[in-house]
Formats: sequence, C-alpha cells, structure tokens
Amino acid sequence: MAKVFIVAEHRQGAIRDATYELVTLARELESKFALEPAAVVIGHGVRPFAEVLSRHVNETIMVENEALADFRYETYAAVLRDIIMKETPLVVLCPQSAFGMELFPRLSAETGRPCATDCVQVEMDGPSLVVVRSIYNGKINSRLAFASSGGYLITVRAGSYAPAAEADKAGTIRDYPCPAFGEPFKTEFLGYREAAAGTVDISQAPFLLSIGRGIKDTENIPKAEELAAKLGAVLSCSRPVVDKKWLGKERQVGTSGRTVKPKLYLAMGISGAFQHLAGIKGSGTFIAVNRDPKAPIFRAADYGVVEDMFKIMDALKEQIGT
Ligand SMILES: Cc1cc2nc3c(=O)[nH]c(=O)nc-3n(C[C@H](O)[C@H](O)[C@H](O)COP(=O)(O)OP(=O)(O)OC[C@H]3O[C@@H](n4cnc5c(N)ncnc54)[C@H](O)[C@@H]3O)c2cc1C
Repeated sequence: MAKVFIVAEHRQGAIRDATYELVTLARELESKFALEPAAVVIGHGVRPFAEVLSRHVNETIMVENEALADFRYETYAAVLRDIIMKETPLVVLCPQSAFGMELFPRLSAETGRPCATDCVQVEMDGPSLVVVRSIYNGKINSRLAFASSGGYLITVRAGSYAPAAEADKAGTIRDYPCPAFGEPFKTEFLGYREAAAGTVDISQAPFLLSIGRGIKDTENIPKAEELAAKLGAVLSCSRPVVDKKWLGKERQVGTSGRTVKPKLYLAMGISGAFQHLAGIKGSGTFIAVNRDPKAPIFRAADYGVVEDMFKIMDALKEQIGT
C-alpha cells in the first residue's frame, strides 16, 4: 500500500496546529485513495509528540537525537532524505511555514522528487497526484497535475484543512536511527526569540474590529479607534496598516502577525488575502465590510456587507449613540 507521510512541525515544546491539519488531509487521502498515513517526528525529547501522533496514525517514525534539538536545514534534511529514500512514501506532507518552506524545495532538489508548495487541496487522479494552489491573493485556484514520479513533496497552506480532533488509535512508534551528518554545518542555530509582546493582546480579545488598507490614511485611524471603543471591541488590522506604521505590529492579524480566536470578528476594508485569513480561522462569527463585491473575504465571512466602510462606521456610531 502506498504511503503518505506527515512531517510533524513542533516548536517550543508543542506540536504546531498545522500538523493536525495534515493528519486530516492524510486521512482523507487514506479514505479516498487508499494511501496509508504515517507520521515522522524529528527532534530531541520528542517522544511525547510521537505518542500523541501515534493516536492518529498507524505508524509514527521517530528520530530522536540531541543534534536535532533545534531546527536547522542540514540536520533535518539529512534525516528526511534518509527516510524518503529508504521508506519511499508516495506523498510527503509538511506545513507551508518557515519550517516547510526551508525544508521542502531544497529537499526536492536533493532527492529528485517533485515539490509543490503552498497547496490548499491535494488528491489523486488515477496514478498521478493533483494539487490546487490558490494564487493572485485567492482570486484564482490553479490545479496542477504532476508527471508520474516515485514520490511527491507537498507543503500545505495553514487553514486548508480542519485540524484533526483528538483520536485514540493505538499506533506504533518506530525508533528510526539518526543518520550521520555532513559536518561542519554551514548554518548555526543562534537562539529562539519570541516576538515582543505589545500593549494589547489581540489573541485574547472576544471582539475584534479589524481594519485594512481600506482605511486609506493615518488620519482615519482615530475614527476606527473611536468606533472600537464604542463597540467594546479591540482594534486589530491587516499587515499593510502595520507596514505603513498606522498601528503597531502587536495589532496585526495573520500568518506574520497574531492568530486570533474572537467570538466576533468584524473586518472593514480588508480584501481577504490568505495570509490574513489564516490568522482568524478559529474565530466565531465573521462579518466583512468591503465595497468590492468580488473581494475574496466574502468567501470566508459568515456575513458580508458590500458598502463603503466609512458609511458603515458612521451608521454604527450613530446607532450606538454616545
Ligand atoms: C510572507 C507574507 C506574510 C504576510 N503576512 C500577513 C499577515 O500576517 N497579515 C495580513 O493581513 N497580511 C499579510 N500579508 C499581506 C497579504 O498578502 C495582503 O497583502 C494583505 O493582507 C492585504 O491587506 P488588506 O486586505 O488590508 O489590503 P488590500 O488587499 O489592498 O485590500 C484592501 C481592501 O479594502 C477595500 N476597500 C478600499 N476602500 C474601501 C472602503 N472605503 N470601504 C470598504 N472597503 C474598501 C478594497 O476593496 C480591498 O478589498 C503577508 C504577505 C506575505 C508575502
């Protein structure tokens, strides 16, 4: 039976959510196309992660070594190269994250296996693998079929699949020998630095009013701040608002900002780029205001208002009163 491997991503003592999304995808490939899922966990002190994953898949391959304590391309790629060449999985999945983006394209060149990055859907069409990639800020889905190969490397965009719920399989954990590394390394792990915490913690707010480039000018920021205060919401934003220094980085929602889980997310003047939407996938009710009826954000929102955001801001202020 052909296999699909999930390369687990973990950081600072926890498995990243994106790994559980890959579990869902691998299970889908199992039920629809009879691929057998297995997990690969690489690192130091990673047995607890392997134990968690063994409750999701029949087999978890664990490579445990002190030299793998911190992620560096040379060591992780050496391990994965060895596993891929010996175990010959048909598909290897990894999150489209800094981790996956550094590992997979180079690994593809080194193993000769084709790679597609940032996929939002993965399936088989007969013997060949087909992936969907969302391009031009989510406006177009491009469907790619690979020429036949012994194996494929795929990175998957966060939020494309729902994370797998807790499971209770009794899968096995296989201790895989760590291969020798080609030292000296070209890179050095200097340390892990968490982004500085700002004055607000948008990740804990139950109600976020989020503004995007549609706010147009720094002069309009006080209007949004006033509305947020009246609504009892915390003000957050998309990346261009931070890039223009209209609001602080601690208020940015998205892949390079914060992941938020408010009960209510009210987005105004935000187009709905995947980097933004990936940060709100755990939100409750999602309302979008945008004057462009074709804005991608409407495909993700629960409720959409096609209107000038300034009109809606004024109307809300008027409704609430002083
Ligand atoms: C590596 C990387 C990481 C990234 N990380 C993030 C991230 O963490 N978070 C993030 O947000 N982005 C991130 N981005 C940027 C992302 O790709 C988009 O460019 C960004 O989200 C767009 O922001 P926006 O929707 O505010 O602006 P735009 O895409 O310019 O959209 C503005 C929207 O406002 C609407 N609008 C304009 N005027 C009005 C009005 N008066 N009333 C109503 N609607 C109006 C327009 O119709 C448009 O849809 C990242 C990009 C890269 C490459």
